[in-house]
Amino acid sequence: MDVEPIAGEAFRCYVQSSSRQNVKFLVDLEEHDFNGACSCENFSLTRIREIHEGKRSQCKHIRVAWDWWAITMARKIKAAMDAQ
Ligand SMILES: [Zn+2]
Repeated sequence: MDVEPIAGEAFRCYVQSSSRQNVKFLVDLEEHDFNGACSCENFSLTRIREIHEGKRSQCKHIRVAWDWWAITMARKIKAAMDAQ
C-alpha cells in the first residue's frame, strides 16, 4: 500500500486503498493519543467504537502509515547522527 506524505505535515498522510484504485484515505497519526485516525469505513464504523471503549484500535491504513512513519523518522535520525 502506497503512502503519500503531505508537505509540512509530520503526522498526516494519505494511504492508497488496497482494493479500490483512485481511492486514498487521510490518516492522522496524532489523533486519539497517537492511536491514529483514518477516513476509511472500517475506522469510522468499527475502530472508533473500540477507541471510545478505551482500547487502541487501528485499521490497516493506520498500521501501514505508522510503519512508513517509523522508517522515515529512523532515516532522519540516522542522517542527523551521521551529520554530527
Ligand atoms: Zn483506514
